[in-house]
Amino acid sequence: MKKIISKNEAVELFKNLSDEFAVIKNPEYILPEFELAPLAPKLTSPLANLTAAVMDMDGTTTTTEELCIHSLEYMIRKLSGKMTVESWIGLDHIVDYPNIIGNSTTKHVEYLINKYQYLFIDENIKSSYFYAAIWTILIGNDDKRKEEVTINLTNLNLTEIFRDGFYKRLEIDSVSLVKSEHEISEYFSQRFSDRFPALSRTDLVKIGIDVYYQRYHEILQRIKRGESKNISTELFNDPDKHLIQPMPGILFFICLVKGWLGNEAEVLVERLIEEYRLKSGRNFEQIEIGELRKRIALISKQFKKHPAKIAIVTSSIFYEADIVMSEVFSVLTSQISGLPLSLELKDFIRQKFASYRNVYDAFVTASDSTEMRLKPHRDLYSIALHQLNVPTTDFDNVIGFEDSESGTIAIRAAGIGRCVAVPFAQTKGHNFDAATYICTGGVPEVILSHNIFFKK
Ligand SMILES: [Mg+2]
Repeated sequence: MKKIISKNEAVELFKNLSDEFAVIKNPEYILPEFELAPLAPKLTSPLANLTAAVMDMDGTTTTTEELCIHSLEYMIRKLSGKMTVESWIGLDHIVDYPNIIGNSTTKHVEYLINKYQYLFIDENIKSSYFYAAIWTILIGNDDKRKEEVTINLTNLNLTEIFRDGFYKRLEIDSVSLVKSEHEISEYFSQRFSDRFPALSRTDLVKIGIDVYYQRYHEILQRIKRGESKNISTELFNDPDKHLIQPMPGILFFICLVKGWLGNEAEVLVERLIEEYRLKSGRNFEQIEIGELRKRIALISKQFKKHPAKIAIVTSSIFYEADIVMSEVFSVLTSQISGLPLSLELKDFIRQKFASYRNVYDAFVTASDSTEMRLKPHRDLYSIALHQLNVPTTDFDNVIGFEDSESGTIAIRAAGIGRCVAVPFAQTKGHNFDAATYICTGGVPEVILSHNIFFKK
């Protein structure tokens, strides 16, 4: 194959790749402006066997969207100084949410900066940036973030802060940093604000990203310390609101496709039906339940012989995904005792669920790629398929699960034709044209109504 070809030759080559293409717009700092991604044809024929399930994290396996949305809104509040709902009502659920969920952080922040930049005040931009940058470097736990923040400080001509006496004291006693946000913001903006160059929109987006991540990681650190209830009270005025929760059917799905349930799978059918009913209101007749139990028993037998592999594929960075999935698995583990299974099986599952690493055959995060190649680009899914060792000839035996528009595009762009959208409250307004199936009943619907796409 020639390496450099004419436009007409390119068109000819492209035509052979697919009948359908996704137009993927790049962030503003990238050329070309957009890319065309050939999509795998939608696959609706019955599944012969399931080699692997590749699943998004946020919105599909768990819900952390509340935290992400809170942190994005917080970023706008910091840059504008409008910290109360009286001064700014906050993000618009209908208009804003489809633009700030499921894509890369850069795209989310870019959208919000373009829309709300008119609210920003120069002084607030600078003071909140100083705090976010210093917090990330001195208190943050993610090395890649620290590196990105240092690069931003260098580009903004602000590395002189590292030589400042107050900064050096904070380096030694970083605990006081948490307590004195106001003092730090004031001190550094008074001393170093005039060093800022004129800020371009790209600079503003980078500042917005640093402020967003600082807030999000600060909350994650507290969750890791076991402060979930306090945070729920502070942010949502409800101590029982779970900030991180598994999605319906996840525990059952994992245990089933891994072949762990053996001949006990059918006793969990009623619980799954209940999860399905809660998610989408679907009810089953008694006669159907008998039929479902038989089908699940058969599927479980098949998975016991041929377990499927499972991967998490997320646009979150590893540091976040690790905390989130550890929390999800601690919630899942607490649910195991209440299951109507034999003690022996419960012990076995509990051991497996002691760490998400025992369960997932691949765990692909934004840290395995780069911000500019996250969903809707196919890269994270291609990495997952490679790590799972699935040959391209077997891609038709893979199911991809996503709750967002960009995620469903990424699945099909990675060559997976069986792409299932499992929208939830926050993403139900997304466009799911790329999805082969849209299952508003989530994973329970995939199992109960679609028989995991095996022949019924
Ligand atoms: Mg998602």
